[in-house]
Amino acid sequence: MARYIFVTGGVVSSLGKGLSSASLAYLLQSRGFKVRLRKLDPYLNIDPGTMSPFQHGEVFVTDDGAETDLDLGHYERFSGISAKKSDNITTGKIYNDVLKKERKGGYIGKTVQVIPHVTDRIKEFIKNDVVKEDFVICEIGGTVGDIESLPFVEAIRQFANDIGKKNTLFIHLTLVPYMKASDEIKTKPTQHSVKELRSIGVQPDIIICRCERPISLDQRKKISLFCNVDIKNVIETVDVKTIYEAPISFNNENLDKQVLDYFKIKTKRKVNLNPWKKITKIILYTKKTVNIAIVGKYVDLKDAYKSLDEALTHGGISNNLKVNLIRIDSEKIKISEIKKKLKDVSGILIPGGFGIRGTEGKIEAIKYARKNKIPFLGICFGMQMAIIEFARNELNIKNAISSEFSKKGVSIVGLINEWNKDGRIIKGTDKNLGGTMRLGLYEAKLKENSLIKEIYKTKSILERHRHRYEVNIDYMDKFEKNGMIFSGISPDHKLPEIIELENHPWFIGVQFHPEFKSRPLVPHPLFSSFIKAAKNHK
Ligand code: GLN
Repeated sequence: MARYIFVTGGVVSSLGKGLSSASLAYLLQSRGFKVRLRKLDPYLNIDPGTMSPFQHGEVFVTDDGAETDLDLGHYERFSGISAKKSDNITTGKIYNDVLKKERKGGYIGKTVQVIPHVTDRIKEFIKNDVVKEDFVICEIGGTVGDIESLPFVEAIRQFANDIGKKNTLFIHLTLVPYMKASDEIKTKPTQHSVKELRSIGVQPDIIICRCERPISLDQRKKISLFCNVDIKNVIETVDVKTIYEAPISFNNENLDKQVLDYFKIKTKRKVNLNPWKKITKIILYTKKTVNIAIVGKYVDLKDAYKSLDEALTHGGISNNLKVNLIRIDSEKIKISEIKKKLKDVSGILIPGGFGIRGTEGKIEAIKYARKNKIPFLGICFGMQMAIIEFARNELNIKNAISSEFSKKGVSIVGLINEWNKDGRIIKGTDKNLGGTMRLGLYEAKLKENSLIKEIYKTKSILERHRHRYEVNIDYMDKFEKNGMIFSGISPDHKLPEIIELENHPWFIGVQFHPEFKSRPLVPHPLFSSFIKAAKNHK
């Protein structure tokens, strides 16, 4: 039977619950256990699909097409396990399910209430689709004390009661701040946070203390005493220099050992930290760097391109160098400045995006990369913009547009049912925005003798998608005659998936998001190759 580990957070948000859960998952896996990671989000959106990256950071997409919280990206990068739809739930989704059932008369006349109906639905989710796992780690989003997270904490309290406390472990992550003025660390916020948690019925078994400086034995004793936790289970996590150091640091602090001791599980298998040591060394100490420009709309927000930033770092790891990201706001950049801004970069990347704002800046940057033979990678919207740039400047279709941002002009990029009524219609004309995109894994067949085939070393690939618009295949011949090859196409030959330029050292656009599948221990071939090309460009 699976054991359940619940991770809550206190004092402030953004303490790294996702990273702690993901690191613990790696450590347990490395000791030979099968692990599953899940996220329970307290907000009312059905999923984060319609949330702005400015508000919520990146939307992470799973193989099976769920739009999820970016923490699932951390889970995948650390555990190597592909997350599923069933691994992320929100209050909105729970209520949606409960209300749908109510409308169908599923509660046979009962008054529908938070307890037991909402909490029951949460508990069903926690247990759902768990087969052979030894551990299920469930992270509860938000901070203890928030109104929204109350039903979740109540549900996990009941859950422990249902399956037995010995099969359930509560980890609480808190902040232990350092006060510069008095040169001391403070345990009171942790004490209060644990008190809050206990007042709603949950006594943590392990406390992870996020701190700037190491916590002395005396302070640990204090936390142990006031929070009613064994001193061995007061685990500190001092800020790491790179997130990939986290598994090493948690292992040094015996987190995995304490978890196994709690469940009275013995194993002789030691944790293998060598892969993390190796990549940490490259990230922290490599002197060689390469400058990559990301020209996008959400560059000011750190988490908006989380998986992309990580995938570029992974590309650096496989080339033994550090990737220096230069973020350029496509909305603010003036066309006259493009040359100056891009003169010291060895690679240009246009990420995914939505809407017209900032498109002209992106198109100019693409033109610059194309003309000056600078390695270029266009992802999703980035590929669509590369198509428009080429159509306008090389095919002389001056009014080439995407119907996403204009209805006037030649829609080289558009909704599939705008030009292909008899074809397979993937997107309806649904006015709802949530969940109406081409989402998740789709296959692409790669052309012989193409750069992309050389990179992937296979005939067919599966990559994750998240978009509404497609490049119009009817223009393929025209593009190919002029040197832009459609080197990856959907198996039914209807949807262009990859484009590349013939007379350019490295110019690729992909309709999918390769960054979602890149992992630090297994960098994605497209990013490794892109960084290699940038390295050679210098
Ligand atoms: N806005 C574009 C579309 O919907 C691209 C989306 C993306 O880059 N993820 O097709």
